[in-house]
Amino acid sequence: MNQSNKRILEFIKNSGVNYFLQDTPRNWLKKSKNLLSTSSKNLNNDKFVKIQQIIEKIKSFDSSLKESAKNLVVYDGSLDAKVMFIGEAPGRDEDIEGLPFVGRAGQLLNKMLAAINLKREDVYITNVVNWRPPDNRTPTDEEILEYLPFVQEQIDVVNPDYIFLLGGVATKAILSTPLALGKLRGAWHKYQSLKLNKTIYSIASYHPAFLLRSPQYKKASWEDLQMLQKKLNENN
Ligand code: URA
Repeated sequence: MNQSNKRILEFIKNSGVNYFLQDTPRNWLKKSKNLLSTSSKNLNNDKFVKIQQIIEKIKSFDSSLKESAKNLVVYDGSLDAKVMFIGEAPGRDEDIEGLPFVGRAGQLLNKMLAAINLKREDVYITNVVNWRPPDNRTPTDEEILEYLPFVQEQIDVVNPDYIFLLGGVATKAILSTPLALGKLRGAWHKYQSLKLNKTIYSIASYHPAFLLRSPQYKKASWEDLQMLQKKLNENN
């Protein structure tokens, strides 16, 4: 399912439609565990509309990256997520599918999430830059600065409890630091949202694509994931 179909289905669900006609009769007396309360439905709807507005702004923002990319890549996962994962920029597979982290690095990310009992649907996944840079090059500082407001706006809308930064580009952009990832990982950092007037605790860790190339760093990445899991368990 591509980004826009997924979004449409999500919108239909958030608008209160829980059932589609199907081939076999449904047991209407069986209670569904997934029904949202009216208030959370409204909250989710509100977030959905705000995220769509951000998507429209990104679409209409002029940048040379847009010329070379096939599809816009904004997010996957839940608007009600407690954790937001932020990567660098879409790669080839993401550009084709219009969804973040669906290639090899994305498969590793899915495994990393599963290792701490999370699924993609439980978290919000996005990137600093929303169009694939040509030949998968690293986005320039200028491109990062151009797209940073859009990811900051997404943070404000989703309002997560924690941010997990995947790699040096996301770390530098979101934590606004010149320090190397090796110096920052293994500790909690503060991201200050001015709009929410709130501090969001953030972890800077290795990018799954880097872990695929350098598996010796997986142990450190696992420690970072466990720090997140500990916080999530404490606050449950
Ligand atoms: N790498 C990223 O940083 N983001 C993606 O979505 C895919 C690969």
